Amino acid sequence: MNTASTTRHRRGKLPLVVALSLALVMAPVLLPSALAYTHHGARWQGTNISWAEGGGDFSGNVGSALGPAASSWNPNTDVTLTKSTVASLTAVTYYSATDGLNGKAQWTTSNGYFTGCYASVNRSNVASWAVNKIRAVWTHEFGHCLGLGHTTSIAIMTGSGTNVQYDAYGIYTPQTDDRNGINARY
Ligand SMILES: [Zn+2]
Repeated sequence: MNTASTTRHRRGKLPLVVALSLALVMAPVLLPSALAYTHHGARWQGTNISWAEGGGDFSGNVGSALGPAASSWNPNTDVTLTKSTVASLTAVTYYSATDGLNGKAQWTTSNGYFTGCYASVNRSNVASWAVNKIRAVWTHEFGHCLGLGHTTSIAIMTGSGTNVQYDAYGIYTPQTDDRNGINARY
């Protein structure tokens, strides 16, 4: 019994030591979560970025969602996306019943700068969705075409393979973490 009591006493002094250790251990853990956004290595030269509608079928909600998705990167960020007739950043649609993707982004670079990027949505998966949900897909792919990778935050750039950001959290537009990622890059 005395041994147990002594042990408790010792433990009574431990929290200070434990608290200090935790602070040290948690510091490197907390920093990345505050900077959850990632970059994939490329960016555009300059911050006025033109985009254009490329090939594909833009009928219905897929087309309605596109313009608002591109513009949703403009508020509170250092970039300004403007629609043009021809641009190196191009929105396209495709149809694949087998690739399992809602959308994708494909780009080319030179010296760390984009020379071109396609933001694509897969009509096979998304054409029947509500406009806000398709807008989330366009916005996500545009995010890749601005240089963002996936984030562990609940944001528009939350990793692929899940619809969680729009289905579970109602996120259709860039969030603080997404905007921080843009502003750290431009
Ligand atoms: Zn993605």
